[in-house]
Amino acid sequence: MTPLDILRRYYGYTEFRPMQAEIIRHVTAGHDALVLMPTGGGKSVCYQIPALLRPGTAIVVSPLISLMKDQVEALRANGISAEAMNSANDEGLNAHIRTACEQGEVKLLYISPERLLSELTWLQHCVQVSMIAIDEAHCISQWGHDFRPEYTQLGGLHATFPNVPIVALTATADKLTRQDIVDQLRLLQPRLFVGSFDRPNLSLTVSKMGQKTDKLRVIRQLIARHGDDSGIIYCLAKKTCESVAEELRRMGFRADSYHAGLSAAERTRVQDDFLNDRLQVVCATIAFGMGIDKSNVRFVIHYNLPKSIENYYQEIGRAGRDGLPAETLLFYSFADVITLRNFAYDSGQQTLNLEKLSRMQEYAESQVCRRRILLNYFGQATDQPCHNCDVCHHPPQQFDGTLLIQKALSAMARTQQQVGIRMLISILRGAFSPEITEKGYHTLPTFGVGRDVPHRDWNDYLLQMLQMGYIEIAYDEHNHLRITPLGEDVLYGRRKAALVVPQKEEAAAPRKRTSKAQKEEAKAPYTPTTTDELLLKTLKQLRLDIAQEKRVPAFVIMSDRTLQDMVERKPTTRSAFAEVYGIGEHKCELYYEIFTTAITSFLQNQH
Ligand code: ADP
Ligand code: ZN
Repeated sequence: MTPLDILRRYYGYTEFRPMQAEIIRHVTAGHDALVLMPTGGGKSVCYQIPALLRPGTAIVVSPLISLMKDQVEALRANGISAEAMNSANDEGLNAHIRTACEQGEVKLLYISPERLLSELTWLQHCVQVSMIAIDEAHCISQWGHDFRPEYTQLGGLHATFPNVPIVALTATADKLTRQDIVDQLRLLQPRLFVGSFDRPNLSLTVSKMGQKTDKLRVIRQLIARHGDDSGIIYCLAKKTCESVAEELRRMGFRADSYHAGLSAAERTRVQDDFLNDRLQVVCATIAFGMGIDKSNVRFVIHYNLPKSIENYYQEIGRAGRDGLPAETLLFYSFADVITLRNFAYDSGQQTLNLEKLSRMQEYAESQVCRRRILLNYFGQATDQPCHNCDVCHHPPQQFDGTLLIQKALSAMARTQQQVGIRMLISILRGAFSPEITEKGYHTLPTFGVGRDVPHRDWNDYLLQMLQMGYIEIAYDEHNHLRITPLGEDVLYGRRKAALVVPQKEEAAAPRKRTSKAQKEEAKAPYTPTTTDELLLKTLKQLRLDIAQEKRVPAFVIMSDRTLQDMVERKPTTRSAFAEVYGIGEHKCELYYEIFTTAITSFLQNQH
């Protein structure tokens, strides 16, 4: 069989994505490789198909048990024999797996790095090892963002298994980490494959909002717009996670939180509930990371600014892995910039982390297509607008902001630059508070000069002023704002300055329907209207029933994309069913009857 035959027969896909075929050919021929592709880019088939083509058992090193479990279940659902060996197994199961491997019945053996070391002698002497894949290979490097000491011991694999090709795979792209992976794994003349980092199905939106009530209002609309689709909300602190989840539950959504403060058992429960669609939204700190290999995540929201573009891209990458449209939304606020600056200062790698943070801020402030910024960051220069980000949808409009900027700077000067952002906005808007009267700020000539500008817009303008270098934050002095020399030029009329009109809230997320319908939706639970939406709902329920019976997550049975294609094609025969996206021979055999019957009776009931 050729690689393409395997892709069609086992996976039910019609063609390879760019690079996949080349990587598969290279590894199957017995050579080492380093593969860089974004999350959701399709790395798995790059080692799974060589594993099927080469005689023996492939070892796949993977850092997380939950990740292994998903991969093994997904492979089995396609009729490929795979096993996972890790600390979750009892000895009886391990003994069974060992025998199966020795008899050549296992094509892929997933194993944790620490387990691999204790099984080395057995593998070396009793198993025909066909190849080795190191997933999440950046875990081996201290330069990466997820260093795991267990990975450093993988450097001896080539010595133990001579003539066995090693393929290292990661979504982390920076050059330092790349070279470190090659060095530490002692790869032999590895070929480097860099896949496209573009994920065109992810929409990108940034919203400059800091207030909890504003953010929650937007989140509520966004979730409502998605019916019962799943999503993740990333928060910086565990307290935020919990309170956001609480608010969402109050709004009637099935939401929960996931963070390092929970017990291992609670975390497993939340993860399982999410994977099995019992939970719709998980509010998580970054700890809810790599274990989530769910193909039907339809939205990812960053409640707080991420600390680097790498983190951001990996997190939004968890949306839309099935290639269908998915929505991402990032909230950007002053408070987050300050918190993250402080983290970076205390991190031990100050310069590096501050630099990463400022690149993240540049992205959030961007006035050109956001995808261009991301792709350029990952070394994939492009000059085409994407038409799927907020900047492309609503190109920023500039105006002469000199007067507004002067008002803000003058208010700062009048307080001897002794105020932070909150207080400054209060002064500009003429808001009385005990602190203001105590300090006598209400008697300043600038008190209330910016009353006509809403709080949110001031926040936006001040962020722009920060980004353009008219003001800076004195992190070591209570985060008070300071006027820079460039700012002084504007304040004293030596220089004019442009500002960008703040986004309107409706622009904060792409909308498919009219705003009236939207408002209704935000209140009422989502009910499908058209025939196709009804059919999709029926098929999803069918998938869920099967998944529950088999005790696996629903997306292992079939991806959302497969169901959507099924809705489009409405197959009522076996051969038509085999044509559906993601339906290989194994799934066709297992499911054609139950699904074609359901579709047939659905269609009859329509008439
Ligand atoms: P990652 O690079 O994050 O490991 P995966 O290997 O999980 O990504 O792939 C993401 C999704 O894309 C999976 O659902 C996978 O089945 C699908 N996929 C991979 N290759 C193809 C292909 N050639 N055609 C269609 N879908 C594919
Ligand atoms: Zn764009």
